[in-house]
Amino acid sequence: MAYWALTGVTAYKPVSVKGIRFMSIAISTRVRLPVILKGDDIVETEIVSYEGLSSESVAIVFPGTDKQSDTPLVRIHSECLTGDAFGSALCDCGPQLREAKQRIAREGGVLIYLRQEGRGIGLYNKLKAYKLQQDMAMDTFTANRHLGFANDMRSYDEASAMLSALGVSSCRLLTNNPDKVSALEETGIQVTERVPTGNFGNAHNSRYLEAKKSHGHFLD
Ligand SMILES: [Zn+2]
Repeated sequence: MAYWALTGVTAYKPVSVKGIRFMSIAISTRVRLPVILKGDDIVETEIVSYEGLSSESVAIVFPGTDKQSDTPLVRIHSECLTGDAFGSALCDCGPQLREAKQRIAREGGVLIYLRQEGRGIGLYNKLKAYKLQQDMAMDTFTANRHLGFANDMRSYDEASAMLSALGVSSCRLLTNNPDKVSALEETGIQVTERVPTGNFGNAHNSRYLEAKKSHGHFLD
């Protein structure tokens, strides 16, 4: 059984990740977290915290059902308070997170939840960017640049280190974002397959999704 699928274990396994910057992190706590998928459908996961990260990012490890493998299904999800918690229709984060939970629950795998809100600019700055989008008709990338930030401040180095600490060296990655695939591979996690996510368009996020598509996301 792959190390990542172990349950009830608190492990300390320092890992170093090569790549853009040196990083050494370790698992701090692994604790049981039953998660509601839908209605009264509850899955027993573990939530994992780490030492050495720049923020309080966590991994959710889902139990494998019948095919725990060396290439678990992995989703790297960047925090979006408005979408994840409040169900904002301005983006597609909420439906993507729900889809990831349900798909990973079916076959086992890991959800990495990175605390890099608003493409890494933080919640309050994201709201300022929304204001520019609504008042000045800017897209998400233009608004971020107008506020003095890069198009996308997110980094996936820590996600790679978090997976390595769980013993995951290769995975199938649930994403439409090619940057995530290359970021993992550059830091030593092999991506054997890119598994596309659903397309969660609505009347309020069509411009946002178009902007993502024009910046290289697959919308399939
Ligand atoms: Zn969002």
